[in-house]
Amino acid sequence: MQSNLASHLVTENGRRSLSRFFQPLLDLPQVQAEFLPFAVGGEKYSLPRLTFQGPNSSDPIRIGLFAAIHGDEPAGALAAVGFLLELVRDPQLAENFLLQIYPVCNPTGFEDNTRCSRRGRDLNREFWRASFEAEVQILEHELRTRHFSGIIQLHADDTSEGIYGFVRGHTLTENLLRPALCEAGKILPRNVNATIDGFAARDGIIYDHYDGVLAAPAEMEPVPFEIILETPHHAPVDAQVQALVVALRTILSEYRRLISFAANI
Ligand SMILES: [Zn+2]
Repeated sequence: MQSNLASHLVTENGRRSLSRFFQPLLDLPQVQAEFLPFAVGGEKYSLPRLTFQGPNSSDPIRIGLFAAIHGDEPAGALAAVGFLLELVRDPQLAENFLLQIYPVCNPTGFEDNTRCSRRGRDLNREFWRASFEAEVQILEHELRTRHFSGIIQLHADDTSEGIYGFVRGHTLTENLLRPALCEAGKILPRNVNATIDGFAARDGIIYDHYDGVLAAPAEMEPVPFEIILETPHHAPVDAQVQALVVALRTILSEYRRLISFAANI
């Protein structure tokens, strides 16, 4: 799977090709691909949204998965797509779930392989601050209207030797991240430092966050779980992808288990 995924990262005219990245996904009947349009300096762009509905989901649990809001972190985009392909092969993994996957939240930065968008903005510092950036406005609309029970964001950190994550939102969130890091830790080491990225951390979990990151709106009810996964950017991309896919699979199965347990008591 992973070696096929590398073919998603084709460069054309010095830019990473968005159309080549998405081409293999457009012919999958199980995946609904939509492209939310915007413009940058007269050029037309779109922010892709891929929807997959698992079995037994008449009233589905809605999950939003967001990747590559930093354009130079392609592992997250590849993992989002790799996870989707895994769901297509084995839909049971998404039983009860409706997933909306935004694999490239920063299309111009993804093309240019830069953290910021082509307008020079770190989009992941602009949320819920009346941002003028089209990508942020599109994503805020999605976060406001899609009724997500869970929001997962994929990143890579070039200062970390291991995988770790941020939790916020619903109190059960750390009960999802802990087993996810445990499973992902079989593929990549976990960062167990007491301080990560300037934040206090415990067993690879940070309970704080930067202001302005992609997150649920403050007034959202019920409160969703929110997880940010960070892989070590310098690790082999295949390993980062594999670790993220395993973590995502674990989060879904744990969440299904926890809420069915809660429903039975
Ligand atoms: Zn990032």
